[in-house]
Amino acid sequence: MRIILQLLGFYFLLNTMACAQPIAFDHQKLANSYSSYKEKKITDRRFKHRDIEPILQGLKRPFSVEERGQSIEGRAIYTVSVGSGDKTVLLWSQMHGDESTATMALFDIFKFLAADDGFNDMRDNLLRELKIVFIPMLNPDGAERFQRRNALGVDLNRDALRLESPESRILKQMRDELDADWGFNLHDQSRYYAAGNNPHTAALSFLAPAYNYEKEVNANRERSMRLIGEMNAVLQQYIPGKVGRYNDAFEPRAFGDNIQKWGTSTILIETGGLKGDLEKQELRKLNFISILTALHGIAEDRVGEFPVSAYDKIPFNESNAFHDVILREVQVQNNGNWYTVDVGIRRRELGGDTPLPYFFDAYIHDLGDLSTFFAYESIPARGKRLIPGKIYPKVVSDWKALKSLKVADLWQKGYTTVRMDVIPARDILARIPLKVISAKETTEDRILPGQHPALILQEKNVNRLMIINGMIYDLSKSNRERLEWWKGL
Ligand SMILES: [Zn+2]
Repeated sequence: MRIILQLLGFYFLLNTMACAQPIAFDHQKLANSYSSYKEKKITDRRFKHRDIEPILQGLKRPFSVEERGQSIEGRAIYTVSVGSGDKTVLLWSQMHGDESTATMALFDIFKFLAADDGFNDMRDNLLRELKIVFIPMLNPDGAERFQRRNALGVDLNRDALRLESPESRILKQMRDELDADWGFNLHDQSRYYAAGNNPHTAALSFLAPAYNYEKEVNANRERSMRLIGEMNAVLQQYIPGKVGRYNDAFEPRAFGDNIQKWGTSTILIETGGLKGDLEKQELRKLNFISILTALHGIAEDRVGEFPVSAYDKIPFNESNAFHDVILREVQVQNNGNWYTVDVGIRRRELGGDTPLPYFFDAYIHDLGDLSTFFAYESIPARGKRLIPGKIYPKVVSDWKALKSLKVADLWQKGYTTVRMDVIPARDILARIPLKVISAKETTEDRILPGQHPALILQEKNVNRLMIINGMIYDLSKSNRERLEWWKGL
């Protein structure tokens, strides 16, 4: 009998030890198998409510999907709930209609949570310990136009007190109903932010929002800080130096700040820019990894172990530190003389409702000594001259006539700009290697901030680069066929 009791005691001891074992979470393995979780129905940033609605309606066990209300224009806003734990987590994305990166990641997380594979231990633990409620695309009317504000013209993130918009009321109601322990406020920030004063873009930035002007730290806010420190530690392995801390000034009308104040530990995630990732698909994956890292930390009750100091070390965002292109120390002509300046160019994303993946025009954002600024593409140009391209003398009647022109021949004669009687849709124009203006327009022959010129970089009177709509064409590399691809549009 004694032996049996001893054995039993030993068994229970072993069992307790097994329960206390942390559940393994290998983020590298998760990153490697990401493609199997990627929701392939969403391929670019400009998806609409009608693209996600069927996916949401098709979600099965373990999810429960509910329509919680409608936007100003009557688009359904859904919650997706999963898990039976007593730690409650609320995640909402795209409160700003043109900030869609995290929404994509949430759909990938749904696929992850529904899968059955080598992550079962971790996944089962999440569903056992947490109750998670997602609101993907809180502002579907804004998403429709790919604009920040909702259909009423209200910035939902300044409507947390008045709650005038139905979208705001849904978010408030969900927070209160769930009395969420944790809140994830998912946004996109400018592509031009740096992570601290260094030449790295803030690919992702975080904030444990302040709940008062004094930026005091209570237990709730401190938990947010600790968890962000852990998310950053993981991200550093993928994008070293490219994580920033968002401006921590208190905004009394914002949701993040108020949700923190209402007792939910809140984490703001802002997706920024990453070189070579205009469609933000790599950033989507990093959102996926960091959100799952966070959920795992919460489920494992490990947040208290993560040091606050790790959060404090994340450099603050340096706003407006980046340009798309900077031509360094280039010569520009003005009133007959040549001057040495840096020329900073920014691309501007055009259009709302078009399926084309990229379309930009560009303007000179700044000019002068830009040695304290960074660029996605920095072009050393000392001793070289930057001149505006010339306007093709004939007015082109229509799209067909435009297509009959040979870009390389035009460039050879220094023509970058074509006047047209009937201008085709501007999103198409912004993709072609010519600048198109109306027949009555002229272009400035000086290079000045605010202008949108097509430019030529010359070395000893030989054209080296063409800079048109913010795109750079290296003449030593361009072949003639490549320049004509747009004629298939
Ligand atoms: Zn936002």
